[in-house]
Amino acid sequence: MPELPEVETIARGLAKRVTGDVIESVWLGQKKEPLKSPASEIASVLEHSRISAVRRMGKHIVFDLVRASNGSAPPRTPTKTPKPKTSGGGGGSARPTDTSSSRPQWIVHLGMTGRLQVCEPEAEIAKHTHAILKLNSGRELRFLDPRRFGRLSVAAHGDFDAGGVEPLDVDLERFVSLFRGRKTPIKSALLNQKLLRGVGNIYADESLFRAGIRPRRKAASITHAQLGKLFIAIKEVLKEAIKLGGSSISDYVDADGEEGFFQRKHRVYGRAGETCVVCKSPIKRVVIAGRSSHFCAKCQK
Ligand SMILES: [Zn+2]
Repeated sequence: MPELPEVETIARGLAKRVTGDVIESVWLGQKKEPLKSPASEIASVLEHSRISAVRRMGKHIVFDLVRASNGSAPPRTPTKTPKPKTSGGGGGSARPTDTSSSRPQWIVHLGMTGRLQVCEPEAEIAKHTHAILKLNSGRELRFLDPRRFGRLSVAAHGDFDAGGVEPLDVDLERFVSLFRGRKTPIKSALLNQKLLRGVGNIYADESLFRAGIRPRRKAASITHAQLGKLFIAIKEVLKEAIKLGGSSISDYVDADGEEGFFQRKHRVYGRAGETCVVCKSPIKRVVIAGRSSHFCAKCQK
C-alpha cells in the first residue's frame, strides 16, 4: 500500500503533468466501490474545471479545482492564486473560507493498488480502469485499480479534511501530546490515521528502529526524550524516502511509471531473519494489531 512518501511522489509527478489543464469530460465505470461520492456529483464537479494544484494530504491526492467557464479559458481570479499548502498542518482546522466555495476538490485515495495514469487517448484502456478524464491538452488522466480499495470523491466546497496531523509539519509539543495516555502499542498509535496521517507500516517500523523503541511498547510509557528521538526519526525517514521516490511495493509505480528506491534503504522492514545493520543480531518479526512489525531486540528497547 502506498504510504506518505509514495503518495507525495505520485502527487508531485502529477502536479508537473496536469496542473493548469482543464478537465473536459469524465467517464466513470460501472463498479461501485471506487466511487465514494455519487458518480453524478463527481462528474459535475470535475467537468469543465481547471486543475489549479495537485498535492498530498496524508495518503490522499487532492486536486484543487477552479471552475473554467468554457472548458478552455479558465477564469482569472481577482487575486494571485494562493500557493497551495503542501499539507494541511495543525490538524486541518485553518481553511480559507472566502474562496472555498468556488474551489472544489477531487480527492483520490489509491488504496492498495490504485494508480493514476496520464496518457494519450489512443493508449489501450487497461483492465480495471474505473475513471477516465479527458483533458483539454488532448491527454487523458485515468484511474486504474485492480483490487478496488482505492476511492474517488469530491468536496464541492473545497473543505476536504484528511484528519490527523501532517507528520512533516507537526511540532514536537503537539507530537508528544498525540501519545499521552495511550495504552496501545506505539506501533498501532503510529498507524492510527486520526493521530498522524500518512505513516504506514514501513515507515513506522523504520522510524521506531532509528529511535530505538520497540514496536510493542505502550505509547504512554515512552519518555519525552524517546518521543523526541521518534519525532526526528519519522521526519528523517519520510524525507529520505520522498527524496528517493518512495518504496516500490508490489506493483506500485509513480505517475511517471518510475519505481521508488527507498526499499533499498530499509533497515528492518521486510528483513526478518536478516542481520541488524547496527549490531548484527537477527531482525525479528511480530504481528501487532494484525500488521507485521520488524525490529531488532538489541537496538530497540
Ligand atoms: Zn540491532
